[in-house]
Amino acid sequence: MSSTIGKVIRCKAAVAWEAGKPLVIEKVEVAPPQKMEVRVKILVTSLCHTDVYFWEAKGQNPVFPRILGHEAGGVVESVGEGVTDLQPGDHVLPVFTGECKECAHCKSEESNMCDLLRINTDRGVMINDEKSRFSINGKPIFHFVGTSTFSEYTVVHVGCLAKINPEAPLDKVCVLSCGISTGLGATLNVAKPKKGSSVAVFGLGAVGLAAAEGARIAGASRIIGVDLNANRFELAKKFGVTEFVNPKDYKKPVQEVIAEMTNGGVDRSVECTGHVDAMISAFECVHDGWGVAVLVGVPHKDAVFKTNPLNLLNERTLKGTFFGNYKPRSDIPSVVEKYMNKELELEKFITHEVPFSEINKAFDLMLKGEGLRCIIRMGE
Ligand code: NAD
Ligand code: ZN
Repeated sequence: MSSTIGKVIRCKAAVAWEAGKPLVIEKVEVAPPQKMEVRVKILVTSLCHTDVYFWEAKGQNPVFPRILGHEAGGVVESVGEGVTDLQPGDHVLPVFTGECKECAHCKSEESNMCDLLRINTDRGVMINDEKSRFSINGKPIFHFVGTSTFSEYTVVHVGCLAKINPEAPLDKVCVLSCGISTGLGATLNVAKPKKGSSVAVFGLGAVGLAAAEGARIAGASRIIGVDLNANRFELAKKFGVTEFVNPKDYKKPVQEVIAEMTNGGVDRSVECTGHVDAMISAFECVHDGWGVAVLVGVPHKDAVFKTNPLNLLNERTLKGTFFGNYKPRSDIPSVVEKYMNKELELEKFITHEVPFSEINKAFDLMLKGEGLRCIIRMGE
């Protein structure tokens, strides 16, 4: 048992002081967990594009100073009042959207949009007392999506922690805490392609390639990858993508290109770019009569989705999903087991690794569009 229980912990955290400025490694104070909260020692975190969006804060509300980070793996250090299903030493993945297990959404088989703990990107405080658990010389530093994993210790609501198999290597399964589960679930749980069907994936970052992996697992026979960055195509071959379309290579809209390639449209599409134009194309490229498009990317806060309603009347379905429709506490432990049973490969998503002190390099790689996931090891 740790001697830090009930005490403030001083540790290193990467603080985003201002939009778009490199993170600064600071000594922060992390308060003990309160009612229904858990303090977690983060061992490894990775960078997802959503962190970059909120760091740039170009299309999102600026909330600074803030500790970003939401894809990670760690070990429970201590638990607050009322926490019964986690204890110090448990291995956990923090998740940006929670599961209280009591609300109508948590009780519904269909939803993972928990009333209490669903993602809230503008909130920088804990829900228990509307205060931050992080501070520097008494000045509060804001949280990010309830996880703030760019810190050696963080405080998370118990409902945002998936307790996983302690044998699972955290430096691999941490990517299931957001991006890979999101893409995989978007296909397997929401788009649900039939065996032998065609699937278009817009955006071949880690999320899109996880969506492609889902299509492969579901037995899709054609997986069409769409990306503006041609460098992604070579990488995507490892993920079962069978054809590639770069919208820049054509004068006509990409939805028309795809309709021509597929005799009227794909059976399913999954959008993983965050750009509204790609969302519209992803919807309009599905076949009338049965096509289903699933939006995953996080849009600009002022984005408006525009399409002729006839596209819907013609029996196309548009859906969106957060976190691949997985309930974090109930479902993620079994996705970790899929990795442990070798049904799911995670190594191919991890293309870079940096020590915590070089966390800004992970941002540079993401901004340059290089690689998929960069693992950031805490400690050093
Ligand atoms: P990424 O930047 O690694 O990948 C995005 C890819 O999209 C890039 O390869 C880029 O070149 C491509 N792209 C951009 N605009 C395009 C366009 N108009 N047409 C075709 N391709 C285009 O990002 P990522 O980490 O894979 O995340 C993808 C998206 O998913 C982001 O918007 C992220 O915020 C979002 N996301 C959503 C959820 C959710 O639960 N809904 C969870 C995690 C991430
Ligand atoms: Zn709930």
